[in-house]
Amino acid sequence: MSQDARRIETLAVHAGRTPDPATGAVMPPIYLATNYERDATGACPRGFEYAREGNPNRQMLETSLAALEGGAAAACFASGNAAAAAVFQALTPARHVVIAQDTYYGTAVLLKDIFAAWALEATFVDATDPQAIAAAMRPSTALAWVETPSNPLLSVVDIARAAEIAHAQGARLVVENTLGTPALQRPFEFGADLVVHSTTKFLGGHSDVLGGVVIAKVEDEFFQRIRRVQIVAGAVPSPFDCWLLQRSLKTLPCRVRAQSETALKVARFLAAHKRVERVLYPGLPESPGYLTAKRQMSGFGGVLSFTLKEGPAAAKALPARTRIFTHATSIGGVESLIEHRASAEGPDTRAPQNLVRLSIGLEHPDDLIGDLAQALGDAPPPAPQPVFPGGRLLRSPQASR
Ligand SMILES: *Cc1c(COP(=O)(O)O)cnc(C)c1O
Repeated sequence: MSQDARRIETLAVHAGRTPDPATGAVMPPIYLATNYERDATGACPRGFEYAREGNPNRQMLETSLAALEGGAAAACFASGNAAAAAVFQALTPARHVVIAQDTYYGTAVLLKDIFAAWALEATFVDATDPQAIAAAMRPSTALAWVETPSNPLLSVVDIARAAEIAHAQGARLVVENTLGTPALQRPFEFGADLVVHSTTKFLGGHSDVLGGVVIAKVEDEFFQRIRRVQIVAGAVPSPFDCWLLQRSLKTLPCRVRAQSETALKVARFLAAHKRVERVLYPGLPESPGYLTAKRQMSGFGGVLSFTLKEGPAAAKALPARTRIFTHATSIGGVESLIEHRASAEGPDTRAPQNLVRLSIGLEHPDDLIGDLAQALGDAPPPAPQPVFPGGRLLRSPQASR
């Protein structure tokens, strides 16, 4: 395990970065080459041969991500789902996984639609209850998989308890840390064996690069198999995607801390609102996950959900009424987003039909709260502001969206 004692802000800027040896460029160039010259003996002296197997931008990014999580090694993928799939593909056949029912719906789809046909059995449990994890474990269980906080229900799993239970059965614990990020939560410190991210979200942070990563606490045989899946199955990120993501990591701690602080303010505003039934956010002391989250996180993250008393129709209508929040899927960007989550997930969703999910960006908290207040009918919507001298509106209230 990496023993780098530097703080996360310092690691975010420096880990994996060396000035370009050829030119001295302070920030790395993008190495687009797919192949690398051999020496007289036929070897590739700098360690790079073919871009699916290795690329300098990907190597730098993996070094950065492993350092941020405090892990030994990382393998980057073309999407978060490709990263999750690589973990399942690395298992030997006829194994079993215990997985939190509140994981990202796409991970459940992956297990049900793809891996069930490959004899990988999955048991979905309420992972907020350690007894439920323990009861589902079998001799063939290879992994316990939890996501905390979860997307979009923000349920919190006690990582240390889940690790104890998994290890007692000889299984590994995988923690999806997409919502927490290493800026707020470091699962290896609580006993996790692998950390998985959709880097598309907070790590990328700007809604412009798709990616995923698996980070290992120890570079063991199982991680070597994940590495084989990465380079042989080949769902690798492009050099440009790696470069963009590494650029984003430098501001991760600052971004996520600000997003998390604003999310707490928005959560408090919504919790006091007469039209709101319930706010799902582990930072509220009345939230069921509050004490566990407080123990294992240094902030509660930039995503929250809430349900409306009037029901599904009101929840579906709300995203069309915001002016600063963009009505779009995904989370983790610098721009705030709003979505009726059940519509996005489809018929198998676990999200209540009256639930709205918010991803908090870097706008001023008062502007975001003001936008939600007007959308919820507390105040008339603000007059549209001309954006360009010609008077063209960036977004008019009548615009169909
Ligand atoms: C978005 C997301 C994923 C899937 O990641 P992609 O990059 O879209 O493939 C997985 N887990 C969580 C928690 C997510 O939010």
